[in-house]
Amino acid sequence: MQQVVVIGAGVSGLTSAVCLAEAGWPVRVWTAAMPPDTTSAVAGAVWGPVFTEPVAKTLSWCRQSLRVFRELADEPGTGVRMAPALTVGDLAVGAELPPQVALIPDLRPADPADLPGGFTTGFRSTLPMIDMPQYLNYLTRRVAAAGGEIEIHPVRSVAEAADAAPVVVNCSGLGAAKLTGDDTLRPLFGQHVVVSNPGLQQIFLERNDAPEWVCYFPHPQRVVCGGISIAGRWDKTADPEVTQRILQRCRRIEPRLEETPVIETITGLRPDRPSVRLESEPLGRARCIHNYGHSANGVTLSWGCAREVARLVGAQ
Ligand SMILES: Cc1cc2nc3c(=O)[nH]c(=O)nc-3n(C[C@H](O)[C@H](O)[C@H](O)COP(=O)(O)OP(=O)(O)OC[C@H]3O[C@@H](n4cnc5c(N)ncnc54)[C@H](O)[C@@H]3O)c2cc1C
Repeated sequence: MQQVVVIGAGVSGLTSAVCLAEAGWPVRVWTAAMPPDTTSAVAGAVWGPVFTEPVAKTLSWCRQSLRVFRELADEPGTGVRMAPALTVGDLAVGAELPPQVALIPDLRPADPADLPGGFTTGFRSTLPMIDMPQYLNYLTRRVAAAGGEIEIHPVRSVAEAADAAPVVVNCSGLGAAKLTGDDTLRPLFGQHVVVSNPGLQQIFLERNDAPEWVCYFPHPQRVVCGGISIAGRWDKTADPEVTQRILQRCRRIEPRLEETPVIETITGLRPDRPSVRLESEPLGRARCIHNYGHSANGVTLSWGCAREVARLVGAQ
């Protein structure tokens, strides 16, 4: 089988490398930053319904990832767990559930009397919650176990990688803007405040269309609190005022977060694009399979996309 170079060691690159290496392809991952320093490490992260383009495909990718995350939740050491979730806000669910929403495990209305913070509508469910630093470690171990190698090796162009291998998989996230000249990619700045877990189990999520909302993801050792999204901001510097607003909003919903110490503030740039780019492109005598532009859904889409990458690599 031909050598494959995967560009990028975020969730897209590592999951693609796992699928390829486990299918027998010799895989090298070339990356500018190791997994703990990627955008992927900053994500909350929760699996959730995706409505972005290409809609039929994102629905299928989402469904495939859900299946895998449910299996991983039964394995120790993956960083994945099925967690109870309370989602509040304007959910605009009509008589018939959209197929994306129908995928949500255990979805049922919440009793309005149980809703905190003055919210009047809400739903309960059970969602895959992924502790990203631990999960990226798990994926890294799985790449290595299948014979794949990960090395620091920034590239200036996709062609540079194609000089080393006949098949290149481009999982460079926002880096694809420079690597491919894709001017439809843009950053969506995000910031999380990470605090010690005072004993929380349940995910809390506010759904709205505003640039700021309340959410927290209680992992065993830490709670990841958000959320914010600022379109077009490339600067990753954490904003102390945003930190305060996030803490205030989360503490209003969950008073047990009042006393708990802040561990760190982390930021990342979601790789936003009008649609996910997952396609094969000829590159002289080589081929490039692009897998980037997952915006706020890269974890959710990761397994479905990685399997499609492996299918495209296998289709000569
Ligand atoms: C605050 C926040 C919360 C989020 N929450 C969620 C969530 O709950 N659920 C969800 O599904 N998604 C969530 N996301 C979105 C998710 O994090 C992204 O969609 C996902 O991380 C994208 O993964 P990626 O591997 O494509 O890109 P990245 O993680 O950015 O990885 C890109 C990789 O490419 C490498 N690279 C770039 N350029 C080059 C180059 N020239 N040469 C070599 N290597 C290069 C980088 O070093 C890196 O290793 C969130 C994002 C943020 C910021």
